[in-house]
Amino acid sequence: MNTTIADRLSIAQSRMNQAAQKCSRLPSEIKLLAVSKTKPISDIIEAYQAGQRLFGENYVQESEQKIIALQQAYPDIEWHFIGPLQSNKTKIVAEHFDWMHTLSREKIAQRLSDQRSAQKLPLQVCIQVNISQEDSKSGIDPQAVITLAEQINQMPNLALRGVMAIPTATDDLQVQQSEFSQLKQIYQQLQQKFAGIDTLSMGMSGDLDMAIANGSTMVRIGSAIFGERS
Ligand SMILES: *Cc1c(COP(=O)(O)O)cnc(C)c1O
Repeated sequence: MNTTIADRLSIAQSRMNQAAQKCSRLPSEIKLLAVSKTKPISDIIEAYQAGQRLFGENYVQESEQKIIALQQAYPDIEWHFIGPLQSNKTKIVAEHFDWMHTLSREKIAQRLSDQRSAQKLPLQVCIQVNISQEDSKSGIDPQAVITLAEQINQMPNLALRGVMAIPTATDDLQVQQSEFSQLKQIYQQLQQKFAGIDTLSMGMSGDLDMAIANGSTMVRIGSAIFGERS
């Protein structure tokens, strides 16, 4: 691609703004998470210099190295873990990340809370919902979200912020719409039961408009900003 990361960030931002306007929402209600997995530190710095502050990473070891390399010079980067997490790797997320989007098991939540230093802000977490109900997908069943939320709510070093999902990859707009509106409902249920719920992490490059029309507050975009991953 011969455009720069700064150009592509501003294109992503204006697509988000247009989607917000179409459904009469304020653009400021929707945050852009730049997904930098597999991309070099120099790309993150380039995006930072263009004003980007929220970065998403998927792989524990890779992200630990990047965060350690960048944290002194760029302390205001907010690091979001958005990948699958095995229980033997929770410590790295507890120690280095600000946010964790893919929480779907009590055991992982407990380990993250135990391993998070009380000196730091609590780890900000979203519950990942398996909205497509495919066995292969990660996330918790929609009916089990409230129970997990109650458990997380008791954990001193976690702060529950909302829900996250990766809807079915499909061109069927009805399937997409149905999944997004179910997610919105789950999010609203959480808001009614718990304080501090303000994050609905859904929407990627291909389904931005529909995600935003259904209340998304954080969209996750990778390759449209940093280029295709090899
Ligand atoms: C990789 C990833 C993204 C970004 O995907 P792109 O196709 O690169 O925009 C968003 N969300 C999650 C959970 C991801 O793993």
